[in-house]
This record gives sequence, structure tokens and C-alpha cells, in this order.
Amino acid sequence: MTEANTAPPMIRMVEVDKYFGPLHVLKNITLEVPRGQVVVVLGPSGSGKSTLCRAINRLEPINSGVIEVDGKPLPAEGRELAGLRADVGMVFQSFNLFAHKTIVDNVMLAPIKVRKMAKSDARRTAMELLERVGIANQAEKYPAQLSGGQQQRAAIARALAMKPKVMLFDEPTSALDPEMINEVLDVMTTLAEEGMTMLVVTHEMGFARNAANRVVFMSDGDIVEDATPQEFFTAPKSARAKDFLSKIL
Ligand code: ADP
Ligand code: MG
Repeated sequence: MTEANTAPPMIRMVEVDKYFGPLHVLKNITLEVPRGQVVVVLGPSGSGKSTLCRAINRLEPINSGVIEVDGKPLPAEGRELAGLRADVGMVFQSFNLFAHKTIVDNVMLAPIKVRKMAKSDARRTAMELLERVGIANQAEKYPAQLSGGQQQRAAIARALAMKPKVMLFDEPTSALDPEMINEVLDVMTTLAEEGMTMLVVTHEMGFARNAANRVVFMSDGDIVEDATPQEFFTAPKSARAKDFLSKIL
């Protein structure tokens, strides 16, 4: 058997429940992301998309169910959790770069601290990644000196510096001016084409149509649809998805 047949999915969630007090935010969520797949998560505001991402990275504890990354259950805490977080790259709507550090220092920081990489190696890797996302010439600047699109590309480079097995994106272009959205989506599309496993929360339907292997539609803490982009956009099954699409398309 080839590896593809035997390897576990990169992300596996089984019957995951999450509450905030009385609010049931993730309702018995079961979801698999096979390695190399790009899954786009769509859904109205408040449907649980961010909580789903944060649960996978264990930024939010879950109340019940199982979450595995690359076949390993999520550890609760300690060194193993740090290791898992390093395997799961995350990019947020707000870029979350360290304001008082240069762009290249932002990218070097975690590999040195968490991966114990030598400084010279970390710098070389960081410069390669900044080259890849098209902002090597901004390396010595501070975040505030960059445009939003450049900052978000720096944030992607910083996540990639940890050599993650999977990348989670939570509305990575929602805070950007329109003219900067495509430069970030282009980087994400290239990453997808190179085979990165990705879970992407976005309202960019063009990206969902073109780059996603699957679209997962969430509403009120439920996964209501799990389909190919073609199926989802041409023939949504649920009333909730039809309603959502009628508002955004
Ligand atoms: P989405 O990303 O789809 O907009 P979220 O995952 O952010 O949705 O939120 C899902 C629900 O959980 C919402 O009703 C939101 O108000 C609630 N929620 C999110 N984070 C918290 C929190 N830290 N405490 C209490 N409620 C929260
Ligand atoms: Mg959100």
C-alpha cells in the first residue's frame, strides 16, 4: 500500500462539542481534512468558524470529542502541546506581528525559541520565506511601515517558518483594503498548489471556487454541508446555505 492509503488524515475531528457557558458553539462536529487538501469553511458570522480553528490549535479547549492532527490526539498541555502548535500554522485576520521587531526578526523568532534553530539558519530560512511571499525587500522594516497586504504575507511567512504540517487561516483578508486582497490570496493559492494542507475560513468566494477541494458550510455550530465547490455553489442542498449564498453572491 502507498502512504496515501495508510496515512491518517491531517486533521480529524470526531463528535466535537464546545460550549461557552450555556452557548453551544460547536455541535457534534465531525470533520476530516486529508493531507494535501484545501478545505474552505464558509458560514455567517457567529456560526463557529473561528472557534473551530481555535479548537484545532487548542487555543480553545473543547468539552467533548476528539481532535487529532496527523494521527495524534491533541495533548492537553506542556511540551507536547507546544510541539503540536508548531505543527499547526495559524494566520488570523489581524496580523499579530510583533510591532517592536523587524519583519525578518518576526519570522525568525519562533524557529529559534521553539525549534531551537541556530540564528544564522533561522535568518536564512526567514529570508527564503520572505522571498517566497514577495517581500524580501521589506525584511529590515517594522510592521507599521508595511501595507496590510505585506504584513499579512509576513504573517504567513512567519507561520511557514515553523514548517507546519497544516495551515489554518481565519479570514486572512477580511481586514485588508480591496486592492491588497489578491496579493494575499495569490500566496495562499501557491501554497495550496504546492500541496500544503489548509483549512481556510474566508468570504472570498473566488478563492473557494478555485482553490478549495471541499467547501464546508457552517451555521449555528453545525456543519450543514460538506461538498465540492462545484456542488456547493451550483446546487446547495440546505435552505440555510441557499440563504447565505443569496446574500453574498
Ligand atoms: P464565527 O467565527 O463563525 O463568526 P465564532 O466562532 O467567533 O464565530 O463564534 C461562535 C459563537 O461563539 C458566537 O455566538 C460568539 O459570540 C461566541 N463566542 C466566541 N468566542 C466566545 C468567547 N470567548 N466567550 C463567549 N462566547 C464566545
Ligand atoms: Mg470568526
